[in-house]
Amino acid sequence: MQTVPLIPRIFIERKAGQIIDPVERLRYLQRSAGIGRPRLQPSISWRKRRLPALGIGLLLVCLLTPGYKASHVRPGFSLGSLAHVSAASADVFPDVWLVDKTSDFETYSNGLRIDDRFTAPNQKRLFYPVYQRGAAVVDIDADQPEWRSEPAGIVYHTTESDQARFTADENARLKRIGKAVIGVVQQNHSYHFLIDRFGQVFRIVPEGDVANHAGYSIWSDNSVIFVNLNSSFLGIAFETQTQQGDQPSANPAQVHAARILTEMLRNKYRIPQSNCVTHAQVSVNPDNMLVGYHTDWAGNFPFLEIGLNDNYAAPPPSIFAFGFDYDPVFIHATGVRLWQGLALAEDQMQTQAAARGISVSQYRAILRKKYKEILAALKAAATANEQS
Ligand SMILES: [Zn+2]
Repeated sequence: MQTVPLIPRIFIERKAGQIIDPVERLRYLQRSAGIGRPRLQPSISWRKRRLPALGIGLLLVCLLTPGYKASHVRPGFSLGSLAHVSAASADVFPDVWLVDKTSDFETYSNGLRIDDRFTAPNQKRLFYPVYQRGAAVVDIDADQPEWRSEPAGIVYHTTESDQARFTADENARLKRIGKAVIGVVQQNHSYHFLIDRFGQVFRIVPEGDVANHAGYSIWSDNSVIFVNLNSSFLGIAFETQTQQGDQPSANPAQVHAARILTEMLRNKYRIPQSNCVTHAQVSVNPDNMLVGYHTDWAGNFPFLEIGLNDNYAAPPPSIFAFGFDYDPVFIHATGVRLWQGLALAEDQMQTQAAARGISVSQYRAILRKKYKEILAALKAAATANEQS
């Protein structure tokens, strides 16, 4: 299996390249020694590895330095290595089937039980556009997308609602808050599924309907790009608040529920692992062209515990396909795992710009123009829909 550098190493090497004095550079590298080089493929040991505070501090210095830009494309970060990763992690769809269904509950063969007593139907999904992801994203025709109707992926959210202590003596309060959260997400058609503090799974918006969960958002798989994921992706929310650090902002009951719910949905709709992502990974703000407008699950989503690859390592298509940027606020909100994807996206931008013989800023401007064309086409289609 091919190994690639972890982000701190990447940035340390880049930073070292900027130090002109050779003695200073050597001291700097010695001080930074010992920071690991785990595989791009996720592993338990990587997730549990705690980076030395020094490494994180240096990384932040690099990332927060105004005008700091990578100056070269690193070996091992070619598109070839990405293909290797996706080939090595071929999808296996767990065999899960519906065991029983009443008007109130569904039960599945993997232990999943869905509570249907609080569903809030919304507008039907019908068709949504996807854009072919060829070698040249700039060649996409905004007016000629392909149309699909089945859910293509999952976006994971947090409700950011009030949190009672998770102890038996707080049981009444936990239940009261849980009920209130169901009421709010029902009213707003916020998600397709809600997982409460006890790991109970509630279907809110039926899977055949659109939920208002993702807003302006972008993701892609190996073949197509998705823009605005309310229609194309299902939304699953954990009743929790974001916590900093590498501990997941969810308890074991919630993680287990998310795992068996994800298994069922992936099997039912043949959703690839690579399309199971967090809101922070897909959210964008077209007004300032920055990623991470929403930052839920920005850094500590338990991908592996939920039976998925660590998709934080994937380069965000918002950056490499549509020229979005990120700022220090987003970096602060995310964890180290997501920085790896950001570095990959930056490198892809540079490679693509170099292949066309233009600067990164010129290339970014072309990509942004393409994104605006797609947004305009989506708005025109929505208006035409409303009038028909
Ligand atoms: Zn969200």
